[in-house]
Amino acid sequence: MSRVFNFSAGPAMVPQAVIERAQQEMLDWNGSGMSVMEMSHRGKEYMSIAAQAEADLREVMAIPENYKVLFLQGGASSQFSMIPMNLLRGGNKADYILTGSWGKKAIAEAKRYCEVNVAADASAESGKFTFAPGQSALNLSADAAYVHYTPNETIEGVEFPYLPEVGDKPLIADMSSTILSRPMDVSKFGMIYAGAQKNIGPAGLTVVIVREDLIGEVVDGTPTMFNYATHAKADSMYNTPPTYSWYLAGLVFDWLKQQGGLAKMAETNERKAGKLYGAIDGSDFYANPVAVECRSWMNVPFTLADAELDSIFLAEAKEQGLVTLKGHRSVGGMRASIYNAMPEEGVDALVAFMADFEKRKG
Ligand SMILES: *Cc1c(COP(=O)(O)O)cnc(C)c1O
Repeated sequence: MSRVFNFSAGPAMVPQAVIERAQQEMLDWNGSGMSVMEMSHRGKEYMSIAAQAEADLREVMAIPENYKVLFLQGGASSQFSMIPMNLLRGGNKADYILTGSWGKKAIAEAKRYCEVNVAADASAESGKFTFAPGQSALNLSADAAYVHYTPNETIEGVEFPYLPEVGDKPLIADMSSTILSRPMDVSKFGMIYAGAQKNIGPAGLTVVIVREDLIGEVVDGTPTMFNYATHAKADSMYNTPPTYSWYLAGLVFDWLKQQGGLAKMAETNERKAGKLYGAIDGSDFYANPVAVECRSWMNVPFTLADAELDSIFLAEAKEQGLVTLKGHRSVGGMRASIYNAMPEEGVDALVAFMADFEKRKG
């Protein structure tokens, strides 16, 4: 058996120690005589697994008491609708800061429920997303119910180098590809959400961290399942939750604690990203179009000087056990996603391969 370094943007790598533990517990979880996936979500055993996962996430992210943590389904994409349904709270306008492809989708959904003020569109001049507008470029409206942004745009590899200042408006963040990559002050946000399949665990789970006082008033006609209050009241057990994904996410949270928490993750992630950008910037053969201060620690897109070499690069990388490096079709070239679970040796191997490839083909 040989495991590859998988640079996929998502579903992405899960720490090997977590998969091994899941394997050990697969047939008989803790003397229960059954696999976690066979357990009733209302049974004592599963309830303890779910509660421990939430407690560990709260500890790792230092989530304040007045925030609810919801374990939902439907992906980050469902949140694009649930956010206006739940957070307009009688208002009819919301601010969106647009820095990439996911933000665009969030805006399209919000427009079904309210007037959207695009507080800044980073693609306005060039047609491309290569930077995050600074605070002074944000055109926030006085009557917005909330401000939404995407701290890390997964496809373009653009990450905000600062936390937008939005006054007394709730700040809503799609953290799908950056949650848990570094410490952050949860109290600065009205709500944080993330699909699990990037930096948390397996697909099928969506984590929502929402300030309690924002929950309760929904747009007329909102289905029960799309109301945060439904899930907050029932500890995410109103209906059957994605039990196995929730369990596995719990193993990842526990792994993060053992690694030294998010401060340690930040250190490693900054170093990993630094090595890769260093390799790109140090060559005339590779390029990354993103403004240096807005470069993502998690998703690193890069192009080769000659696009004709793309398929050869991908095939040779695969032979070296470096897989899923093809860039998103909208951007082209390559993209290396290097979430928490990507070992530093994976980045080292990629950097070495890139140098060797350039020497031979550049
Ligand atoms: C992947 C991703 C999404 C979509 O997530 P799904 O769980 O597939 O709906 C949304 N936003 C960002 C920033 C992402 O990276």
